[in-house]
Amino acid sequence: MSDTLQYPFLDLGAANAPQLPQIEQAALRVLRSGYYIGGPETAHFERELAAYAGTEHAVGTGNGLDALRLIFRACIELGLMCPGDEVIVPSNTYIATILAVTDCGLVPVPVEPRLDTLNMDTSLIEQALTPRTRAILTVHLYGRVCYDAEMQALADRHRLMIVEDNAQAIGARYADGRRTGALGRAAAFSFYPTKNLGAMGDAGAVTTDDADLAQAVRALGNYGSLRKYHNIYKGLNSRLDPLQAAILSAKLPGLEAENAHRAALAAVYERHISSPYIVKPLYSDSGDMVWHQYVLLTDRRDRLRSFLTEHGVGTDIHYPVAPHRQPCMADWAHGPLPLAERVAAEVLSIPISSATSVSDARAIAEIINSFPG
Ligand SMILES: *Cc1c(COP(=O)(O)O)cnc(C)c1O
Repeated sequence: MSDTLQYPFLDLGAANAPQLPQIEQAALRVLRSGYYIGGPETAHFERELAAYAGTEHAVGTGNGLDALRLIFRACIELGLMCPGDEVIVPSNTYIATILAVTDCGLVPVPVEPRLDTLNMDTSLIEQALTPRTRAILTVHLYGRVCYDAEMQALADRHRLMIVEDNAQAIGARYADGRRTGALGRAAAFSFYPTKNLGAMGDAGAVTTDDADLAQAVRALGNYGSLRKYHNIYKGLNSRLDPLQAAILSAKLPGLEAENAHRAALAAVYERHISSPYIVKPLYSDSGDMVWHQYVLLTDRRDRLRSFLTEHGVGTDIHYPVAPHRQPCMADWAHGPLPLAERVAAEVLSIPISSATSVSDARAIAEIINSFPG
């Protein structure tokens, strides 16, 4: 259906088109190289990613969920956590965040969002702590940094590890200039095709300054082995495909321009959308938000969505069901989470990618302003 819309929500083919010559060259190089698992392309992208994020180490993984799972598995193998330990998570996030925690036998403890940033309300973390809390899994949702000095001080005071789910915020910077991916003990990246730096298939990575953690993640993602046929952990198979690594290396130089374009679209929306029925996302042009999504809040979401579809504007919902309301989470014990539920009922994402132009964004803003409520 989105093909027929004048302003599709996201056309990945169009978004990748300007970089296609470099991407094709990179892919051909891998196909002809004889290295189809690991090898120089993967190692090269890992070095580039570490340099970009500002960490000592980057380890490629099969996808973003595995990057998170491998961080927690490594923490358990290294004795930093035990199954049954608690991890603070935002109640408003993509379900992968929660699945990574439960998959490792850890217990996610949800913290409600702020309604302005839609990120975890860090002032509520302290009251969620118990003697079993070991980590804060912070999610830079929609591309907005969720980290501050207060969170760091709290983590230091209670000896908690900060782990970043950086699937949505590659390139964002905290106020002191550090990039996401370098703010905690370890960070998970996803290069799912729709992310700001997207592969052409599944791909992910872990960044960290901790050499032991990096090595454990690398081993765990390779059958628990660093040396062939010598398995130190009961690992899994989750490695960064060299084809995807080469494509990511080809696209990485374009990431700053991609993020700048998203920021330009956000500026247009901020300036031109004005509707009594809609709350726009908290605006920031200081680099702490890379606009992975531009998410409106409205109590008439489904009507607005139909209206926009009728007028040629594609939309999406990130996310329509809060993780704790998913059927698979029925066994998750937690208190009431009314804010996560309200957010799930009211969010609507509008087009923001390199396939949307600044003039498209102006037109989309006009259409939104004509919504009769
Ligand atoms: C995309 C995403 C993930 C998972 O990444 P995959 O590569 O799809 O496994 C995890 N957390 C968040 C917040 C995401 O947006």
